[in-house]
Amino acid sequence: MIQIDKVMKRYDNGVIAIKDLSLKVAPGEFVYVIGPSGAGKSTFIKMLYHELTPTSGTMKVNEFDFAKMANKDVPLLRRQLGVVFQDFKLLPRLTVFENVAYAMEVIETPTADIKPRVLEVLKMVGLEQKMRRFPSELSGGEQQRVAIARAIVNKPGVVIADEPTGNLDPDTSNGIMDILEKVNQQGTTVIMATHNRELVDERPHRLLEIAGGRLVRDEEGGMYGNES
Ligand code: ADP
Ligand code: ADP
Repeated sequence: MIQIDKVMKRYDNGVIAIKDLSLKVAPGEFVYVIGPSGAGKSTFIKMLYHELTPTSGTMKVNEFDFAKMANKDVPLLRRQLGVVFQDFKLLPRLTVFENVAYAMEVIETPTADIKPRVLEVLKMVGLEQKMRRFPSELSGGEQQRVAIARAIVNKPGVVIADEPTGNLDPDTSNGIMDILEKVNQQGTTVIMATHNRELVDERPHRLLEIAGGRLVRDEEGGMYGNES
């Protein structure tokens, strides 16, 4: 469960990127975040995974209240959140298998548990045949599938995806959406910032539209094209 109440974010230079944002996301929802460039989407998404902290207001993700969180709780929160980026952010010197395994190693998963789980998620994203390759040997779509495998390997309650199809062609983007929807159908909440009009309209989910730092639309099954 994500609960956001009257959140405001002001950067050090005085720019107010998010204003009076209140919303709830229930477990298992699939939510798009849309809006023009500079609207505040990245700021919102970064607050969700605690890369940025709100200037005021409250933000709770599961049992974590961001205002009251100690630094030692941040790794615990991160275990419950998987994050997927537009530019994949894979570790270039590690293989596909190692990139995914690393996410389990950093949270000190018992060694014996790592291999079976990594193989399971690589199978889910259709990459078990390429587990010994390096990221540079993969297509963009394959790299994004590795990034999704890494984001879900620790079974987070929430996956946050910031423009996950931003660097991909339409066919490849559809494949990425198939996987994110499959992750969602398994019970994981998915929050996805996107500019991809076609995907949003072809695969309706709850739609949050941000403009000028404000939430201007919150519509179940909303179409991108309806934006004002
Ligand atoms: P979007 O992701 O929708 O393009 P952003 O959240 O990146 O929007 O930006 C929202 C506003 O905040 C913009 O006016 C942007 O210039 C500003 N902004 C973003 N990051 C910073 C920062 N680190 N410092 C100052 N202003 C920022
Ligand atoms: P995106 O829309 O893909 O998030 P941006 O170009 O908006 O990319 O932002 C890239 C980085 O620059 C982000 O880390 C953002 O916080 C920062 N940034 C964006 N706008 C500003 C700004 N006006 N001043 C300082 N940093 C900014």
